[in-house]
Amino acid sequence: MDKMTGESWVTTTFETLEDWAARNSFWPFPFGTACCAIEFMSTVSSHYDLSRFGSEVVRFSPRQSDVLLVAGTINDKMGPVLKKIYDQMAEPKWVISMGACACSGGFYRAYHVMQGIDEIIPVDVYVPGCPPTPEGLIYGLLQLKEKVIRDRKRFREQGRNQGNNQEKNESVNAGATV
Ligand code: SF4
Repeated sequence: MDKMTGESWVTTTFETLEDWAARNSFWPFPFGTACCAIEFMSTVSSHYDLSRFGSEVVRFSPRQSDVLLVAGTINDKMGPVLKKIYDQMAEPKWVISMGACACSGGFYRAYHVMQGIDEIIPVDVYVPGCPPTPEGLIYGLLQLKEKVIRDRKRFREQGRNQGNNQEKNESVNAGATV
């Protein structure tokens, strides 16, 4: 038993390990359409170094990404493209709306500009500003990490409750047939 303890040993639950991995290994899909995308480039570059938060593995395939990062003005013509990319991402997936344009249309009060991407896809974190700062985006990402943990707990509880209800129904049905 003595040989099984020491500084290099860690004990934990599988769920805790899974949560830790999920919140520290985002693979963002940057949907950059305007100046906010430049701020995103700055955030992943050496000065701000997004890899400190495990989120630097940028992917341009929705099938390999779990965070859709919308950075820029979205006009109505782009809406179906954005929606299709969101739909192609596997679950679980999250969305960050970066900047005033993506959040609310920004100063484009125009018929052809979407007044917030939440008109067509669900948003988990809104990063305000025009332009939003790299610090703002990093803060948004940290908030998303907290949300991921909350969501995962909720999904697990829902799964357990569904399992319990199913067991109850099965035992009731079994009782009815006997
Ligand atoms: S919020 Fe500002 S910086 Fe970002 S895309 Fe719109 S105009 Fe550009």
